[in-house]
Amino acid sequence: MAKKEKLALFTFIDAFGYELLKREPFLDDLLPYKSPINTIFGYSSTCDPTIITGLMPREHDHFSFFAYNPEKSPFALCRFFKYLPKSITRRGRVRRLMSRFIKRLYGYTGYFQIYNMPFDKLPMFEYTEKRDLYQKGGINSGARTIFDDLRDQNIPFYLSEWWKSEEHNLATLTEDLKKGEIEFAYLYMAHMDAILHEHGPEAKEGSEKIKWYDQQMRKLLEVAHEQYETVNLYVFSDHGMTATPEDYQLIPQIEALGLKFGEDYAAVYDSTMARFWFLKPGAEAAIRGVLEKETNGKILSKEKMHEWGCDFKTNRYGDLFFLVNPGLLLCPSFLGETHLAGMHGYDPNDKDSVASFATNVDLDTPPKRLDDLFGLMKKEIES
Ligand SMILES: [Zn+2]
Repeated sequence: MAKKEKLALFTFIDAFGYELLKREPFLDDLLPYKSPINTIFGYSSTCDPTIITGLMPREHDHFSFFAYNPEKSPFALCRFFKYLPKSITRRGRVRRLMSRFIKRLYGYTGYFQIYNMPFDKLPMFEYTEKRDLYQKGGINSGARTIFDDLRDQNIPFYLSEWWKSEEHNLATLTEDLKKGEIEFAYLYMAHMDAILHEHGPEAKEGSEKIKWYDQQMRKLLEVAHEQYETVNLYVFSDHGMTATPEDYQLIPQIEALGLKFGEDYAAVYDSTMARFWFLKPGAEAAIRGVLEKETNGKILSKEKMHEWGCDFKTNRYGDLFFLVNPGLLLCPSFLGETHLAGMHGYDPNDKDSVASFATNVDLDTPPKRLDDLFGLMKKEIES
């Protein structure tokens, strides 16, 4: 049987930053072109929509998971959970079970977790990734993704099920490669992110994981080359990982002001940033007063938010953004209260934030920032 002409294989590895790519051997003989690729401000919930749409956050309207919106909050019933003893509700397992329950109740198809959100405050917030990003209509602004193009053009393609294990996704892709029908594949691998959060970017666990990816990709390529004349391989990440030796507390300084949460102001404390909504006059000045004195982070100016593509049309994601310095973990936060050895979501230009890109294709212009990956995928399906 004649081989098929070409396969474009896009491989996403969560948190495989450029610092790691430089340090570790990874498919060195097969991927001669390796480069840094700039991430964008935010977490995977911001970066991943940018990769698959080519748009900045202001255009796809994805950022952090929780947004102040008491009228549209689906979490009214969580108000009652606050009466449960903290020994129960602080447990990760219990919160995961609750997340699963709420997700099913509302029919959410996206990634959903209530994390460490306080139950008395949850009813003031909505969740912003309700739909599966990778399916039709998954992007908040209604923007199209590369997968919409593939579907509309009837191009046979493979797309990982992001909620399944890496082993599962490698196995299903291998099956598809053996059939030799697909022309495009998007392999999604997210487990390294968890490893690097737990052990930090410098630990041997990360190196071992990269070795494992190296082996798995070799096996995959072997199968692919049996069916395809050419395999254009692209490996990339959404962001890097910064070692976080120290915890930084911000909630007590804000609470010491004596303002009322939900009446004077609202806030979400993510792992590297705090976002504030001002509900009554006076709250802004008081909170700014605290933040301006903080040396562990800075208030992001309107100009900076514009430069980073995060000047949203509405204040859905906050009136004011305070970003913590790289290496400090905002902890406890609404995302977690246990220390982690690594985190991302800092200044996108900090060296440890930078994502990685590697390929076997000699490109005229390698992608410079995550949004360029969309154009690259588009070029592959058009050629
Ligand atoms: Zn992560």
